[in-house]
Amino acid sequence: MMLKFDDAFEIVMDSARQLGTERVDIECALNRVLAEDISSDMDLPPFNKSAMDGFACRRAELGNELTVIETIPAGYTPKKAIGKNECSKIMTGAVVPEGADCVIMVEFTEKTADNKIRFTGGKTTDNICLKGEDIKKGEVVVRGGIRILAQHIAVLASLGCSEPLVSVQPRVGIIATGSELVDPGQKPSACQIRNSNAFQLAAQVTDSAGIATNYGIAADTEEAIDSMFKKAAAENDVLIFSGGVSMGDYDLVPGILEKNNVRLLFEKIAVKPGRPTVFGVSNEIFCFGLPGNPVSTFIIFELFVKPFLFKMMGHDLKPVVIYRQLERTITRKKTERDSWLPVVFTENNKVTSIEYHGSAHINALSEADGVICIPTGIAEIKEGATVAVRQI
Ligand code: AMP
Ligand code: MG
Repeated sequence: MMLKFDDAFEIVMDSARQLGTERVDIECALNRVLAEDISSDMDLPPFNKSAMDGFACRRAELGNELTVIETIPAGYTPKKAIGKNECSKIMTGAVVPEGADCVIMVEFTEKTADNKIRFTGGKTTDNICLKGEDIKKGEVVVRGGIRILAQHIAVLASLGCSEPLVSVQPRVGIIATGSELVDPGQKPSACQIRNSNAFQLAAQVTDSAGIATNYGIAADTEEAIDSMFKKAAAENDVLIFSGGVSMGDYDLVPGILEKNNVRLLFEKIAVKPGRPTVFGVSNEIFCFGLPGNPVSTFIIFELFVKPFLFKMMGHDLKPVVIYRQLERTITRKKTERDSWLPVVFTENNKVTSIEYHGSAHINALSEADGVICIPTGIAEIKEGATVAVRQI
């Protein structure tokens, strides 16, 4: 039976379990999933801070000649309070002295005598970042469950979180099955092809914050696949098989998984490409069997394995989707599956399908800006319709 995408997705996501947490140095935290809420140990900014290079003074005295009483660089504590008709020269990031309520930009001042200046501008804002205006002490600033991006690293660093608690990364073993496969460094004979899937999958796993191990090629024999399963299962949390899951005489993966006490939760899904996708679980291991055609392998990883790996780290991955108008009508005859097609953005800000020969056509994906889905039951999407372009 062919399972609908939503049902298969739910089965996969409901199976995920988290692997625990660990602390990592902030320099290694990029792309990891944060496993704690981070609250601030201080107000930010921690003091009233000058936003400009200029002169700190009293707004009420902007029309007067002012005497410069001190120079305040960043990282220095002002020694003098601003009195009547006084100002202090101040640098961006420095502490605004007592008595001042305004910083006038150096560009809007002129020197009238030694140690005297005058404001030459018309109006000015205060140019002071007030203590605590960005973050209050004790406030939760970053929530657990986010994927740590460069912008979060900055916040963690400002809050003194130099060793954030993050989710343990799933270890993912990759096994390419196929007696026709050779390593990329080899020249295939007339009946062979290079193993591209294992390397693509390892890259996708790394991109999903997992730890990938490529176990190489297993020939299409029970012994080869079984022994590689046993070795990889002992060393990983998740296994991904490429190939060997369809109806051919040498498609041995589902049977070998069952013999190793992996319960198959589905073996066929209504997704094109990718119908013979297999998902199985045992107490020790999660197994994905992905069809060997490279586009299928890629798409099924994106649809199922990526969100699954993130869920194992406590992160709810939302695919990035851009909405655009379709430039040319797309039609198809068979409608019993969700079909994913490679597309590109056009110069007039629309989107259009590109030449695509099917699930073996790997360079179609490398030329695409994203993929769109023609849902089950739909035969045509008309020119001008708004479609969701999923980023890949
Ligand atoms: P399979 O799913 O094993 O029936 O394979 C389907 C198609 O994908 C066949 O044409 C295979 O040669 C090709 N294929 C299988 N494994 C790989 C791989 N690791 N890299 C590239 N192509 C593959
Ligand atoms: Mg095969």
